[in-house]
Amino acid sequence: MAKRSYTKTPMKEQAPDSRKHNFDEVALGYTLEEGQLEASRCLQCKNAPCIDKCPVMIDIPDFIQAIAEGDMSQAYEVLSRYTNLPAICGRVCPQEKQCEMVCRLGRSKKFEPVAIGKLERLVADWALDQPYEAQEVGQNKGRVAVIGSGPSGLTTAGDLAKLGYDVTIYEALHSPGGVLTYGIPEFRLPKKIVKQEIDRIIAQGVNLETNVVVGKTITMNEIIEEFDACYLSVGAGAPRFQGIKGTSLNGVYSSSEYLTRVNLMHGYQFPQYDTPVQKSKNVVVIGGGNVAMDAARSAKRLGADNVSIVYRRSLEELPAREEEYHHSVEEGINYHWLSNPIEYLDDGNGRLTAVKCVQMELGESDESGRRRPIVIPGSEFIIEADTAIEAIGQGANKVLLDTFPELALNKWGYIDADEESCETSIPGVFAGGDIVTGAATVILAMGAGKIAANEIDQYIQKTKQEQLV
Ligand code: FAD
Ligand code: SF4
Repeated sequence: MAKRSYTKTPMKEQAPDSRKHNFDEVALGYTLEEGQLEASRCLQCKNAPCIDKCPVMIDIPDFIQAIAEGDMSQAYEVLSRYTNLPAICGRVCPQEKQCEMVCRLGRSKKFEPVAIGKLERLVADWALDQPYEAQEVGQNKGRVAVIGSGPSGLTTAGDLAKLGYDVTIYEALHSPGGVLTYGIPEFRLPKKIVKQEIDRIIAQGVNLETNVVVGKTITMNEIIEEFDACYLSVGAGAPRFQGIKGTSLNGVYSSSEYLTRVNLMHGYQFPQYDTPVQKSKNVVVIGGGNVAMDAARSAKRLGADNVSIVYRRSLEELPAREEEYHHSVEEGINYHWLSNPIEYLDDGNGRLTAVKCVQMELGESDESGRRRPIVIPGSEFIIEADTAIEAIGQGANKVLLDTFPELALNKWGYIDADEESCETSIPGVFAGGDIVTGAATVILAMGAGKIAANEIDQYIQKTKQEQLV
């Protein structure tokens, strides 16, 4: 038997110098041979810790074993028992903080963990090239409305359709997918892949109605009357600003607006598409998460000469995925660590010309366990900028919530739902994903979607039985 490699089988990538000028995907995927080589590194552990650390409990050793044996159809069969969106998760899940973090191989000092995410992507991409059969809308075990077509809503809809329910997804935008479509850029998650995976869920017999804003186009009371149950998965996409002086200047964006213009409205293909984003020379992005990385790397691809990320803590605390940080450095993104903006400066004509920042130092840990940044007096400095993008987190989408005051919210304005059952304060109304947890991850939103599908099934069957008595 070949000696087990200490390191992960590398995945080919576009070279930084060329990829920073295009929106094509950065990572190019494994060939079958590379995948088999990587799969053969797995120890096939008994009581595999990687399974427990996966929010949807994929039988990881089982699908990896199938790849090692070259049986892609079996590998996909295993994966699809647990996830409806494997090509998406294989690309964007923070595996380094989940399954790969606890991989026994990686826990030994010499070895890197198995590249579980990259193997998931290999299988899922293989499956997308295989034909599939569309199903009729369910045997009508009941009618369910799903509000919002992000990963959480799509998961619930797909699982309920498989169980024989008549499911309708209502989506406010003209394209389904939530953040997968309007937030995460093409170079990390190609829209073609998102569309193909969504098409397969819809083909399981799900109705999709786009351009329907629940709370405006139809009300929650109409939904409750028409359906046996509903699932609220409206995400946390409302922009947040720091509220510093100069925020209303031209050239200051929220990351939500900037990325939506680029991704959903194809701003980078102007004038073929007619919602452009500003062409910039010097861009400052504020924040340190995946959203900040995506905005900075998009700005670079749109032709900016200088793109800087201003983050108030240090590299050690950076919340973005490690891989995204490394890619951003390779692409020439600059970092101002331990820095925070305090004012946007006006060029005298209502346009942004620079960002005034202060230097910070880290004090005692706060409730989140991270050391609190403290301003260093007299440390102001200026960064020249014609565009600033705030990526400091998002809040609850309010359109539905404001028109449905009966629904209990928590102190942060998110829906108060039981994490174990997705039940809300109103019987038959379930909720999950970012609108319950606040901005989190694709796989956590999917995990909630799976719980909700199960609970909705039980709720409808129980209600029907009670009606018969
Ligand atoms: P969303 O994806 O937000 O979907 C909610 C949907 O509901 C939207 O389509 C919205 O239009 C719709 N909606 C809202 N209100 C209404 C209404 N009233 N009526 C009808 N429809 C409505 N996570 C990762 O795991 N890895 C990453 O690399 C990663 N990168 C990210 C990058 C960016 C730029 C952003 C913004 C987020 C990123 N995330 C990442 C987080 C992840 O995308 C979210 O946690 C996840 O999408 C949440 O899923 P959801 O289904 O709860 O909500
Ligand atoms: Fe394979 Fe790592 Fe999971 Fe063990 S923990 S089964 S080595 S992927």
